[in-house]
Amino acid sequence: MRFKSLGSGSSGNATLVQSSGSDTCNVLIDCGFGLRQLLQRLEKSGVLPDQLDAIFITHEHGDHTGCVQALSNQYNIPVWMSAGTAAAIGYVNASGLLRTASNGDVIALNGLQLCPFTVPHDAREPLQLTCTDGAAKLGVLTDLGHATAQVLEKLQGCHALILECNHDTDLLAASVYPPFLKRRVGGHYGHLANSQAADIAGAVLHSRLKHVVAAHLSQQNNLPELVQKCLAQALSCSANDIIIASQKDGCPWLSV
Ligand SMILES: [Zn+2]
Ligand SMILES: [Zn+2]
Repeated sequence: MRFKSLGSGSSGNATLVQSSGSDTCNVLIDCGFGLRQLLQRLEKSGVLPDQLDAIFITHEHGDHTGCVQALSNQYNIPVWMSAGTAAAIGYVNASGLLRTASNGDVIALNGLQLCPFTVPHDAREPLQLTCTDGAAKLGVLTDLGHATAQVLEKLQGCHALILECNHDTDLLAASVYPPFLKRRVGGHYGHLANSQAADIAGAVLHSRLKHVVAAHLSQQNNLPELVQKCLAQALSCSANDIIIASQKDGCPWLSV
């Protein structure tokens, strides 16, 4: 199995997960770009839109939904999201491609299994997920204010992690953000600070954790160097071992 962030941050998020083997399964997790932009990013990654077997949408915020409706309809791709997310974005299921995802229900595709779970975030019914091909397990965790016991349990045994490192607490406190926004971002239903992400990474660390990708970095309130330092400390690795998913390019394909 391999995966690649196509871009990550408050201006748009999308991640490809691909099973290995002859019958390749491609899943797009989130779709937070305009259609033209997303197609360009897919092309760069070497995956054509009609090779996508499924789209999974984590929640209704625009940096995750983007062109989902157009992409799904145009290329006839089934879309999984929670009932709350579908209601919140007013998803029009005219083509019958909408599938309901729920906390704890396994989505079995031809070659990949998706396991969504609830996270605390200021959205109607947000889900994050793990993906497995039966051998390797990838955890995708962005857009949450804090880690619950269930989040930590679901991420146990992951061989790779895409982990939100939204802000540095000091930079957020000193930023020009208005007080309500600082409270929202730093609150229990907002986004993870670097130190919170480091605690999560440390809690799920095991000898076969191969890749940690830091994602959803704030442009204003964070710096890649701070993220790498903070996570490297928690994981007892080198700062260079922490991969940053950028807004512009995401990250390279990574195999697990
Ligand atoms: Zn987001
Ligand atoms: Zn969000």
